Amino acid sequence: MNKLMERGSNVLMNTYTRFPIALTEGKGVFVKDQHGNEYLDFLAGIAVNVLGHGHPSLTKAISEQAAEMIHCSNLYHIQQQTVLAEKLAANSVFDKAFFCNSGTEANEAAMKLARKWGRVRKNGAYKIISLSQSFHGRTLGALSLTGQPKYQENFTPLLPGVEFVPLNDIDALAQSISEEVCAVFIEPVQGEGGIFPARRNYLTEVRRLCDETNTLLIFDEVQCGLGRTGELFAHQYYGVEPDAVTLAKALGGGFPIGALLSKDSASVFQPGDHGSTFGGGPLASAAALAVLTELIDHNLIGKAREVGAYLHKQLNGLADTAKIIQEVRGINLMIGLQLDREAGPLIERCHQKGLLVGKAGAEVLRLVPPLIIEKDHVDTCIAILADVFKE
Ligand SMILES: *Cc1c(COP(=O)(O)O)cnc(C)c1O
Repeated sequence: MNKLMERGSNVLMNTYTRFPIALTEGKGVFVKDQHGNEYLDFLAGIAVNVLGHGHPSLTKAISEQAAEMIHCSNLYHIQQQTVLAEKLAANSVFDKAFFCNSGTEANEAAMKLARKWGRVRKNGAYKIISLSQSFHGRTLGALSLTGQPKYQENFTPLLPGVEFVPLNDIDALAQSISEEVCAVFIEPVQGEGGIFPARRNYLTEVRRLCDETNTLLIFDEVQCGLGRTGELFAHQYYGVEPDAVTLAKALGGGFPIGALLSKDSASVFQPGDHGSTFGGGPLASAAALAVLTELIDHNLIGKAREVGAYLHKQLNGLADTAKIIQEVRGINLMIGLQLDREAGPLIERCHQKGLLVGKAGAEVLRLVPPLIIEKDHVDTCIAILADVFKE
């Protein structure tokens, strides 16, 4: 292991401070490391493995599709991609899909859509409003929308025309929105920024302002979408319809795929405007279809809603006794525990006791488990957290 870590640091770019763990296999909500130690996985590869690990339907879909065809490019029709787009459209308010390979790419596509829409439908409006503390990805466009200086500062100058306003402050947004603004980008529940849910009446008011000023409202549901809030889309939880939405993390259950969905009224791309060599290929589309079948047709989302309510109840109980927890935030299975200190050392203690959890900002412990968790997994998680907090 130490050898592997050392070899890694010789040849891998220094982009991550990794934990001294190499995960080698997983089954359901448990994963094992190279020594055979088992962990209960409440991070799910950062809100990705919604079906847990080694789910039979997903494994089957990927292996069968891999044997048929892995890639062919978007120069040809891809049956699985069309079926996937149909399924997304049938279960949402959106009409059209564009597929790519990650969350940041989905947001790049959304920004280009917004710019083109501004050009052809709003007299060349090009500015974008985004929120402070937001996270939209690492490529330069999406990074320009990411309202956290620590991610941006080494890479300026970024995209011009982006303005940031605080979450849940409708007056600030009202002051910034203008005829030059083509779109407002919002994560309905901020993820990397610390698990901060938008307030429902805030999003309702944002929708109203966007309607009044003929501005696109685009939700980044890369993390909070696809069942995490207890609804297929986070905006369904809120009852507020955006014009377009971006998806990724959970969509392929671990196989990389991202998507931009939009209403017909906003679907202004024409051939040549945008593209992706890999996006929506047969393998990725087959994986996403398997995930959506579990989420929607097999009602995994409904089950996750029940266990999510139970998890919140147990966490609130824990917060009553563990003074280290200042606040339990989040919706259903997207949860942040605001601590009174750095989360890092506590995460390592959780590892030692067999629990994987994450961080969202320095003092927030992030729980984004697979949607297949059950009550006894919640009990195990709570017992380990209680143990760690007691120390
Ligand atoms: C993770 C994340 C992204 C970036 O996704 P990548 O697949 O890492 O590019 C964008 N937006 C939100 C809200 C995210 O949580």
